[in-house]
Amino acid sequence: MSQQTEISVYDTASTPVCSSCNRLIHPREKAVSFYCPNCGVVLIWRCHRCRKLSVKYKCPNCGFEGP
Ligand SMILES: [Zn+2]
Ligand SMILES: [Zn+2]
Repeated sequence: MSQQTEISVYDTASTPVCSSCNRLIHPREKAVSFYCPNCGVVLIWRCHRCRKLSVKYKCPNCGFEGP
């Protein structure tokens, strides 16, 4: 159990995940990252596809939703 948690934390730290679709973002992908405009705590990632389709994201810290 604890071993699984360590692995998932490591993966999250090394590979960003899209905040809209939860898909892993590849280093070469034209993704964007920015801090939540509402609370400024959480780093939001958006993959190329979600940027193009203007998929909404939701901040896991304050619940702010934005385009
Ligand atoms: Zn996405
Ligand atoms: Zn927020």
